[in-house]
Amino acid sequence: MKNISASIVSIGTELLLGEIVNTNSQYLSVELAKLGIDVYEHRTIGDNRERLLECFDSLLRKYDMVITTGGLGPTVDDISKETACEFFGMEMKVIEEELETLREIFRRYGRVMTENNNKQAMFPVDAVILKNGAGSAPGCILERNGKRIILLPGPPNEMKLMFDNEVMPHLMELTGSVLYSEVVKVCGIGESAMEELVLDIINSSSNPTVAPYAKTGECRLRVTAKAQNAEKAKELTAPVVKKLVERLGENVYTVGEETLAAAVGRMLSEKGLTISGAESCTGGMVSSMLVENPGISSVFIESCVTYSNSSKIRQLGVTEETLQKYGAVSEQCAKEMAQGMAGRSGSDTAYSVTGIAGPDGGSVEKPVGTVCFGFHFKGNTVTKTAKFHGSRNVIRMRASIYMLDMVRRELLKFRAH
Ligand code: ATP
Ligand code: MG
Repeated sequence: MKNISASIVSIGTELLLGEIVNTNSQYLSVELAKLGIDVYEHRTIGDNRERLLECFDSLLRKYDMVITTGGLGPTVDDISKETACEFFGMEMKVIEEELETLREIFRRYGRVMTENNNKQAMFPVDAVILKNGAGSAPGCILERNGKRIILLPGPPNEMKLMFDNEVMPHLMELTGSVLYSEVVKVCGIGESAMEELVLDIINSSSNPTVAPYAKTGECRLRVTAKAQNAEKAKELTAPVVKKLVERLGENVYTVGEETLAAAVGRMLSEKGLTISGAESCTGGMVSSMLVENPGISSVFIESCVTYSNSSKIRQLGVTEETLQKYGAVSEQCAKEMAQGMAGRSGSDTAYSVTGIAGPDGGSVEKPVGTVCFGFHFKGNTVTKTAKFHGSRNVIRMRASIYMLDMVRRELLKFRAH
């Protein structure tokens, strides 16, 4: 990773008068340190041409770059960009594309664009122009003989957004650093419950950062590190991933790209167990998820879609008495389905799922989204009932994921010898 030295110049007479607190330099220092860029000097200076020129001169003699904030606005006292260009001997011209972007911003806010705004669209031809996602003045990166001036706006919200989105990638390329992520995949608890369990780890991590997000039926934590190469980045992510996995325990089904169904397939094969299944409301979705994975043939025997009561009786040996007494959507029925499936296929384990996917067919006692699950293993059958929200297909999807997660959790209890 290249060593880069930097200085931060906060421009604005308000700062010198003590009317505002200089939060920009603090933010930039923290972010630059994360990138491994050494910040050697902070300066605060008024909107004054001579002093700015002197500032660029003395700082760029010592350091590779100067990052400025402030003075990019349209008024005559905003002179940062003009002065930086003068210092580098660069000519500015109106960049048509930027002028159009400015016009669009003014149109959107219903404001009149005055003549002095044009200067916000003026840059040297070889400048890297930095989009302003929160205001009108773009920033820019000027480079001459390996020395850089990076000009950012003064308002902190504009400055931060521009730094994160526009400057960061540029600096990462410059320092030769890479981004590397690991994904911790979690099932069986919601996103907020997951976040609560690891909130202190999220809050105390800056490199790597830890970001939670949700997917249908499961959620994830993305751990991202910046370093000079993938190996170093992996060294940074590894201890944090380990902490997250320890904290979340059995809720974690994998670290990496593996899907839940693939994890179940892997566990079965590691433990030398076979599986079969009987599905009602999911209509084969669980088995389809399992079969998506190559190599599943060594553990997956068969599955049945036993949608009607008569099929449950004929194919799986569910008793009429159970169906009459408890209904098809009941843990009793799920239990008999799993047992029947294991019996007829001869597999070591068997899963079963039966529920009400809707939109019709619900009752007060068993509303739409009620799904019963069974898992038969070694002469023992466990059952569960869960309730899901959503459209018919979302309920079927969530039920299928729940089924796979139940199988996974049951398999965790079994240690292969
Ligand atoms: P504008 O288009 O708003 O004029 P600008 O890029 O010219 O933006 P300045 O005029 O220097 O920026 O500052 C605009 C406002 O941003 C200031 O009034 C102040 O509220 C805030 N600001 C500027 N510099 C800093 C700083 N270093 N720390 C915190 N806030 C700042
Ligand atoms: Mg201004």
